[in-house]
Amino acid sequence: MATVQLQGELGRAFKVNQPHAGAWSGQITMASGAELQVPLPQRYLTMSPEEIVIAIARAKERLGSRVVILGHHYQREEVIRWADFRGDSFKLCKDAAARPDAEYIIFCGVHFMAESADILSAPHQKVILPDLHAGCSMADMADIDQVEEAWDALQEVCAGQKIIPITYMNSAANLKAFVGRNGGAVCTSSNARKIMDWALTPVEQGGAGGEKLLFFPDQHLGRNTAVLEMGFSLDDCAVWNPFQDMGGQDAATLRRAPILLWKGHCSVHGTFMPIHVDNIRQRYPGIKVVVHPECTYEVVIKADAYGSTEQIKKIIEAGAPDDAFAVGTEINLVSRLAQENPDKTVVCLNPNVCVCSTMYRVDGPHVLWVLENLLEDRVVNQIVVPEPIAGQAKLALQRMLDIA
Ligand code: SF4
Repeated sequence: MATVQLQGELGRAFKVNQPHAGAWSGQITMASGAELQVPLPQRYLTMSPEEIVIAIARAKERLGSRVVILGHHYQREEVIRWADFRGDSFKLCKDAAARPDAEYIIFCGVHFMAESADILSAPHQKVILPDLHAGCSMADMADIDQVEEAWDALQEVCAGQKIIPITYMNSAANLKAFVGRNGGAVCTSSNARKIMDWALTPVEQGGAGGEKLLFFPDQHLGRNTAVLEMGFSLDDCAVWNPFQDMGGQDAATLRRAPILLWKGHCSVHGTFMPIHVDNIRQRYPGIKVVVHPECTYEVVIKADAYGSTEQIKKIIEAGAPDDAFAVGTEINLVSRLAQENPDKTVVCLNPNVCVCSTMYRVDGPHVLWVLENLLEDRVVNQIVVPEPIAGQAKLALQRMLDIA
């Protein structure tokens, strides 16, 4: 087995273990390194879905407690059925920590999730991402070089003002590390308010003492939290566009705004529009609209409720029989919620359906491929976050755990 260590153009540093790396025939065409995914052996591509199911069940049984499979809510049915734990990215990292007996953590999700699991897991555990193509378009919207550049510019233009960097969980490990070494913290969609409050609270009251914060990569989670939960106005939020000089802002705005938002978004949640809320209410009078805070501010203010995937799940489960919900999040979770709540009506807010194409990369054949390699004592697609990035990122994650 060979270990390939990459430092992509986007600054994402990670290692991937591949058997027979010398014979690898793929090409690295993107900075993320995701193209290191080797093609699956032909056998996996010709097996029927039934054969895949039987083979996964057999391999999982043989591996027993040596392996734990984590399934993100957005995974498709053929994958999530094998998950020992289901949840959002942060819950899954905590679930994995509850299984220290597992040598292998198979993370059915996307790259940044597997990185976080590697950072938070015990040293003897190996984290595996079944398909290295499974990235996150939002995480890729903030790369370390752009963030370092923005940080330097802001330190200059906002001289004398303390800025606290906050990164959403949906970011590469090297961004979490940046935040860790610059006194900030990671947040999730469930605890963004607590973390942003901490950033702007004076040190003597237990906060980070910031006068402003730089939030990345998702501008919508940052804006929704600041305006809808913390009492800031839309005018208090300035968006930093990494592709424009000085982020596309003038110095006075950057100095005045307490909330600086990175111009990034989720391509899935960005498809929900205010018109979808109007249309669904017309079609199903009395329906409750529940959306994820990665949706735009304009959509969130029209909704009846918003929250993380875990919160959305709880809202629907707590609904009365015959309640109807229109849900603004990824379609695999919406379909599952509909199936698991047969006494209620659960539909997708957007009739055109929103699938996360990167999550969709993980499928039954890839899960079987990693399991069968483990049976042969080969670890494929291992995600290893190297030092010092891992240690600095852990600092930012630990601050979140201490605050939230
Ligand atoms: S749903 Fe959006 S934020 Fe989540 S993994 Fe997909 S692209 Fe990334």
